[in-house]
Parts: sequence; structure tokens; C-alpha cells
Amino acid sequence: MAIVPIYEFPHEVLRKKARKVKKLDKSLDRISQDLVDTMQNAQGVGLAANQIGILKRVIAIQLPEEDPRVYINPEIVDKEGEREVTEACLSVPGYRGTITRSILVKAKAWDRQWRDVLIKAEGLLAQALEHEIDHLNGILYMDHLNQHEKLEKIEPELDQEEVEELN
Ligand code: ZN
Repeated sequence: MAIVPIYEFPHEVLRKKARKVKKLDKSLDRISQDLVDTMQNAQGVGLAANQIGILKRVIAIQLPEEDPRVYINPEIVDKEGEREVTEACLSVPGYRGTITRSILVKAKAWDRQWRDVLIKAEGLLAQALEHEIDHLNGILYMDHLNQHEKLEKIEPELDQEEVEELN
């Protein structure tokens, strides 16, 4: 199990559609753990298998103060409402944008033990599910920007040491 490289835009693997997982085997364990390790190392909220170069429908999500979750073959079955959110992506480092996401999302998936799960999500979890399932379909959050909107460059924040050096 390892921290692996995250593929960045415009790598073509991010535009491919991931395939459904048909059986649970050892390789799936490894993919799940690599996703979790790599997501945690990058301090991300979620990571999809495409982003580590694997075209299988597996995602990891970890909300602040919670344990990581892995979902296999996740699928949105229902969604409600619209809201504007600021979003960023580990595959598009240094940028963020404001897009429209759902207020409520209902999704089904299998967990790592191959059990059926039904996820009723709102807030950050709903946003993360939509973002990561988009990845499995080759969609990036920038695709949801209206034409007149632009990505915003994130200014790197100075850490305390650098501030002291500047003073
Ligand atoms: Zn992303």
C-alpha cells in the first residue's frame, strides 16, 4: 500500500470513463488503500481511481474528523436542489472555481467488504460524491463552469517562517 502519483490536468486518463468493478479481488484492496493513502497524503477530501491512473470505478472520500470511506461502483440515484460551491481538485493544483452542485445527493455503491450501501448525503459529502463520480465519467469540475466564469488562481499562503524572513 502506498502513496502514488496523482495525474494532473490535462492528462488523458482524467478524460476516460472508468469501468465497473465486476469482482472483489486483491487488486481492488490495493487500489482502495492506495487511494486512501494518496488522498490523505495530499490532504484531499476525495480521490477517484482515474486520478492515480486506474480506470476502475473506485473512489475514496474523507471528511474532516471522519474515517476514510471507499466506494466501489458508486452511482448517483437521486439528487435535489442547487447551490453554489467553491471547488478545487488535486488534479488541477493551484486553482479553484465556483460551480453549481446539488443540495442533496442519494447514491448507491459497494463498500470495501462488498456490502451494498445507500448514501444519503448533503453538504461536503454530497459535493465530494458528485465530484468523484464525475471523475469516473471523465468529467472535471471546470466542465461545470459557465462560459463567462473563470478559474481563480489560489495565491499561496505565506507560512509563519516566510513571514518572519520577510520582516
Ligand atoms: Zn478532483
